[in-house]
Amino acid sequence: MKEFKYLSPTSVEEAIDFHGQHSETARYIGGGTDVIVKLKDGWMEPDFLISLKKIQEMSELHKNNATGELSIGAMVTHATLEKSLMIQNEYPIIYDAVSNIGSLQVRNVGTIGGNLINAVPSADGAIPLIALDGMALLHGPDGERSAEVKDLFIAPYKTILKPGEILKKITIQPQAPHTGSAYIKFGRRAAMELPLIGIGVLLSLDDDLQTCTKARICLGVAGPIPIRAFDAEKLLAGKKINEEILIEAGKIAADESKVRDSVRGKAWHRKEMIRVQVKRMGLKCLEIIKDKN
Ligand SMILES: Cc1cc2nc3c(=O)[nH]c(=O)nc-3n(C[C@H](O)[C@H](O)[C@H](O)COP(=O)(O)OP(=O)(O)OC[C@H]3O[C@@H](n4cnc5c(N)ncnc54)[C@H](O)[C@@H]3O)c2cc1C
Repeated sequence: MKEFKYLSPTSVEEAIDFHGQHSETARYIGGGTDVIVKLKDGWMEPDFLISLKKIQEMSELHKNNATGELSIGAMVTHATLEKSLMIQNEYPIIYDAVSNIGSLQVRNVGTIGGNLINAVPSADGAIPLIALDGMALLHGPDGERSAEVKDLFIAPYKTILKPGEILKKITIQPQAPHTGSAYIKFGRRAAMELPLIGIGVLLSLDDDLQTCTKARICLGVAGPIPIRAFDAEKLLAGKKINEEILIEAGKIAADESKVRDSVRGKAWHRKEMIRVQVKRMGLKCLEIIKDKN
């Protein structure tokens, strides 16, 4: 492994400043679970690694009681999210996704920000944040800007981040009263496995607990970047929700996916999993909503 200098700024501004001084040869590092692999394999050869670990505000997870906004610092680890009772109770789709990432060791150091910015199609953390209409707050040499999490991704390993930009946090607005959400990572093994396909569904129902007011169907490993199945969502919005319509939504989502054959699985199998699991996750959402009422 090539030698590098390790810098530990304590503020976002300081980190951006360090990056500006060494822009061509500097890389940010969060928990390092992706970066270290790349360093060892020689895919990344920076002269400077800028750690984001000591930036306190980036490790904060909190919900604003007045506005109901959830704020997840980019350096919050998967384990912190997994252990949070608030996440378990109020954002089951996040819990479902992060509690199945890698192993305990990976979840203890891997961060939600690193998961998004690494930008692989199989990023488990991306699907719930897209389903929850998450917003990403970015800070770079030109100041702050925000983007929907769904718009962060351009291609595998490529995001909209400009040189020197840092993902500071993700915010999520309060969900409608009758909302349920669920994620399933479908793989060949139970642990230490990237998903063959990842499926997240979020449904909000009207006060009658029958009519869908909002639907999100988000798919990982179903294309070069995490995607939303917009046609399937459109089918559900405004309709009475039952098993039949969820079966139809599953078929449409499978058709609009851009799955392909890979070393880990065949396209036809991935499509089949989308078809079946969209329905199952939809039914799980309905159960969650009914349990709360
Ligand atoms: C054994 C193993 C198993 C794994 N299993 C899974 C799995 O099941 N599911 C899954 O989704 N992933 C998995 N991963 C991948 C990885 O653990 C996750 O993507 C993790 O969340 C990455 O976070 P990190 O903090 O370690 O990122 P890092 O390695 O620190 O960084 C990743 C990339 O993001 C950039 N970066 C990090 N933070 C920021 C920021 N705040 N702003 C700007 N740029 C930033 C870095 O420069 C780098 O390019 C696995 C990895 C390993 C090694």
